[in-house]
Amino acid sequence: MREKTFYTLAVHAGDDREANFGALSVPIYPASVFAFSDADDGIAIHNYEKDGYFYGRLGNPTQTALERAMAELENGEAALALASGMAAISAAVLTIVDSGDHIVAPESMYSTTTNFLRHIGEKFGIETTFVDATDAEAYAAAVRPETKLFWIETPSNPLVAITDIARVAEIAKAAGIKTVADNTFATPFNQRPLDLGVDAVIHSATKYLGGHSDLTAGVLVGSAEIVEKARHGANKFLGGNIAPQVAWLVLRGIKTLALRMERHNLNAYALANALTENPKISAVYYPGLESHNNHEIAKRQMKGFGGMIGVDVGSADAAKVLVNRIKVCTFATSLGGVETLIQPVALMTHATLSADERAKAGISDGLLRVSVGIEDFNDIRSDIFEAIG
Ligand SMILES: *Cc1c(COP(=O)(O)O)cnc(C)c1O
Repeated sequence: MREKTFYTLAVHAGDDREANFGALSVPIYPASVFAFSDADDGIAIHNYEKDGYFYGRLGNPTQTALERAMAELENGEAALALASGMAAISAAVLTIVDSGDHIVAPESMYSTTTNFLRHIGEKFGIETTFVDATDAEAYAAAVRPETKLFWIETPSNPLVAITDIARVAEIAKAAGIKTVADNTFATPFNQRPLDLGVDAVIHSATKYLGGHSDLTAGVLVGSAEIVEKARHGANKFLGGNIAPQVAWLVLRGIKTLALRMERHNLNAYALANALTENPKISAVYYPGLESHNNHEIAKRQMKGFGGMIGVDVGSADAAKVLVNRIKVCTFATSLGGVETLIQPVALMTHATLSADERAKAGISDGLLRVSVGIEDFNDIRSDIFEAIG
């Protein structure tokens, strides 16, 4: 049989019809408790000597179906589904580092990840050096004897900066350091970091995997060593488990992931190009543009450039005017859903950073983050161009 493409994989990932009476949709198991059939069986399952389920926080067949699907799509050995992207991020980090260890991470990325790394620095003495991640060698320069983790986020939130995944993974391997990539913006349709050498990938499934702005979830995928340690550690102790109803919704979203991403890619590529020609726009950030500083790396490691664009309209006031005027696009935070969402970055998601930190991360006052949806491109384009005035 020929190798399945992503389009086919996405539709069938996680299927187990034999176990489910032929059902095309995996059943939702809301049970928080599963009975044991006899003493030996119960003891073996409870002590993880035998596969099975016994308590809601520790998994159920719906969650397992999502985990199988994500392991397939990211080409990982194992996956753990969690309650949010931050549950996946904290599980990954706390699985790999101990107090006194050191992390290297991008100075420009999802601001709650930045703040989480600061938080564990203050609380547990786990220090992070924030580097310019568009230069892979900056990771090497920041290594200390106690460095245990390289964090990657590419394309990054909100500037869609690109990190050379293969090069950072290579530097890490040579130094015995683990690498984790936040693949939320790209999704496995556009980029598979595990194939490029990282040890694990995390997702905010709240975004493209779910795809319909109707759930909060996260996934950790990667080596069985990291994933199983997270399952029996962070997930069990911190309790960030995913609800079975939500796991089912993510699975349903994944079935159309390839189609949605194809359209997100097309619309964003066209919009980024159109915006570069508008004289009122001071900068457009999109990995698919030749003007993007790491366009060549993006071309090498991504199949498509994704649905996220950074647009600088020059000032905070101009950003406010635009979000007040849009009619087809929606003024909202978050991203990755079917609808186009626009948000002023400096005033909102990255307002928790100081002005200095924002400047260092390249986030100007007029920066808008555009999550380009799957609506008709001409409707999106004319709405934004009319709002720019
Ligand atoms: C949204 C987001 C997260 C956090 O995910 P939640 O599901 O909100 O916890 C992490 N990384 C990136 C890149 C994100 O966009």
